[in-house]
Amino acid sequence: MADPSPASIAHRLEREFGADRVVHASDDRLANYARDEGYEGPYPPACAVLCESAEEVAAVLARAERERVPVTPRGAGSGMTGGCLPIHGGIVLSTERMQSVREIDEGDLVAVVEPGVITGEVQRRAEAAGMFYPPDPASLAFCSIGGNAATNAGGPRAFKYGVTRDYVLGLEVALVGGEVLRVGRRTTKGVTGYDLVGGFVGAEGTFGVITELTLRLLPNPPAVSTLLCAFPDMDTAAGAITALMGDGVRPRALEIADRSAIDHVRHRTRYAFPTGAMAIALIELDGDPEGLEATSIRVGERCEDAGAIDVRVAQSSSERRSLWDARRAISPALKEAHRHKISEDICVPRSALPEMLRRIGQLAAGTDIETATFGHAGDGNLHVNLLIDQDRHEPRVADRIHQTVTRLFEETVALGGTLSGEHGIGLAKRDFMHLEQSPRVLAWQRRWKQMWDPNEILNPGKVLPPRPRVCAE
Ligand SMILES: Cc1cc2nc3c(=O)[nH]c(=O)nc-3n(C[C@H](O)[C@H](O)[C@H](O)COP(=O)(O)OP(=O)(O)OC[C@H]3O[C@@H](n4cnc5c(N)ncnc54)[C@H](O)[C@@H]3O)c2cc1C
Repeated sequence: MADPSPASIAHRLEREFGADRVVHASDDRLANYARDEGYEGPYPPACAVLCESAEEVAAVLARAERERVPVTPRGAGSGMTGGCLPIHGGIVLSTERMQSVREIDEGDLVAVVEPGVITGEVQRRAEAAGMFYPPDPASLAFCSIGGNAATNAGGPRAFKYGVTRDYVLGLEVALVGGEVLRVGRRTTKGVTGYDLVGGFVGAEGTFGVITELTLRLLPNPPAVSTLLCAFPDMDTAAGAITALMGDGVRPRALEIADRSAIDHVRHRTRYAFPTGAMAIALIELDGDPEGLEATSIRVGERCEDAGAIDVRVAQSSSERRSLWDARRAISPALKEAHRHKISEDICVPRSALPEMLRRIGQLAAGTDIETATFGHAGDGNLHVNLLIDQDRHEPRVADRIHQTVTRLFEETVALGGTLSGEHGIGLAKRDFMHLEQSPRVLAWQRRWKQMWDPNEILNPGKVLPPRPRVCAE
């Protein structure tokens, strides 16, 4: 058995890959691999290894299996649920140096990329070739495409275009033990065999490590129109959204934010929030220029009829950017303003959105925890943020947080919703899985995990709650 001490693991990896690839305990940079953008941790690994190819990823996974050392895949570390944190120590396997865009093919409408490429770069490269990669997590400036596939990331445009899973045609994956597998295909259609791609997408790095992705691209939509509507309260905003849906309007994005979320960015963005704006809806449409202008006017009027106090239509791409900046600034502003920001991302059926917003309002009023809610209204996907200024580990505070999160999840499930619309389960939500999924469903998922990773060395302790203890009477 190899020496399992952190120094010894790092030393063996250094011998295999070279010193510049291994970040070890004496290096200040190791702290970066102990956290993500969520509130779990820190969990320092024994070391982080910066892989540059599928062969290297496979070699790390072969060694980890041989030596029974836990290994945790990491993309850009922008996750919100502790998914890339090495909670049992061992090796962090980083794909940050796997940054090559191998192919952008206009004929086949595909991109072939390495997992460490930043999502915004995938979008830019597709657009430069006249194509469109729709998934747009708000973190697109700094998250990786491999992490997006591992978490099945969504974003504002999911309402019209779907989520990452809808754009991953094929994957190259390195498995525990060192085997490298190609699954899926390069064609949009294809029903040969079981859907292994669907299994790896959203598995949060617990089945294998993605080393290459073949992505579906679309033709670029010819025109885009962006509106920002301000409302006197969240109820009125929710009513306007319901009215738009009833009209059959299909925006590519339909975002909302409540008063608390707006208050955190009111004086920090180029968009001047009108006085009295206590909720906003950001609506983006795309399509042919002629039809789009008429639809845009109709959407603005419908929002005014439903009670909007201001409707701003972006007149240039710079104005469009400033409206989106106002929306994208919310999450970082909340994080900056509070000691802890606990961000949930529940999702309810679209029809239940107004009721869910009411229940969140009641929940917030019944606790002394400040909340801010914003998110992707078109998908019923809401980021409910608990904003905490005390020490969250203090038992009374921790207890209140736990109760509030549990109530939030219970209300969500009662309305037919799900615990996570896009961030995944990771570590933060694994102990709440039973609220949504039956013991049998959890048991089948455990078997699935065992098939890929019988010794539980790959991202152990994530997604599924720890095994129930068998009590000897
Ligand atoms: C301000 C902000 C806004 C955000 N907005 C959104 C949003 O709109 N929509 C959304 O979905 N998310 C959003 N997120 C969350 C986060 O950006 C996504 O979950 C993203 O997909 C994570 O990518 P990453 O590269 O940072 O992955 P990491 O955080 O490094 O890892 C996330 C998970 O993926 C696994 N993983 C990473 N790379 C691989 C790989 N190559 N192979 C196998 N497993 C791997 C890790 O083990 C971990 O379980 C936001 C985060 C922030 C901070």
